[in-house]
Amino acid sequence: MTRDEIIKLLETVGAIRTGHFELSSGRHSATYIQCALVLQHPQHAEKLGSAIAAMFKDHHVSCVASPALGGLIIGHEVARGLGVRAIFVERDRSGQMALRRGFELKPGEKTLVIEDVWTTGGSTRETIGVVEQEGGLAVASGAIIDRSGGRLELNVPAKALLELDVPSYEPDECPQCRAGDTASRPGSRFQRAQH
Ligand SMILES: [Zn+2]
Repeated sequence: MTRDEIIKLLETVGAIRTGHFELSSGRHSATYIQCALVLQHPQHAEKLGSAIAAMFKDHHVSCVASPALGGLIIGHEVARGLGVRAIFVERDRSGQMALRRGFELKPGEKTLVIEDVWTTGGSTRETIGVVEQEGGLAVASGAIIDRSGGRLELNVPAKALLELDVPSYEPDECPQCRAGDTASRPGSRFQRAQH
């Protein structure tokens, strides 16, 4: 998939929207990203998974690991594309990321870590930590969107299908607020992208 095809798909389903938004962090942005809105369509999820799988086929992994919940569906589809299994890490009762449900890694098993969106990459870093703690070998990491603005720091090779530079502002510094516009909360009110 080309960059334009990916952007068009994400905009068509409302997974990328333009407007004036109050994000869950409280910051304001002209762009809202919610990958669940594209991954709710299995045919789109499969296509994106296949495109990510193609970027990592030379790593010859035998497992894909993802942080729940955001990475779960796309991790599964990347694994489908690579013909390997997909496992996920999730928080245990103490709040630590862990492998549960009987998931196991073989000693030194080459594993690809997949996430939906990188903002800081924190969940991906935690997942890499769990893979290594469980005896596996995290060899690379992929995502649908990297919105870190080049600030992603992972200790494995990392590549996203789409890199987006998405500025956000504290409300009192937001250019759209200064222009007299009111931000909306995208999680509670749907605003279709103007395309
Ligand atoms: Zn604003």
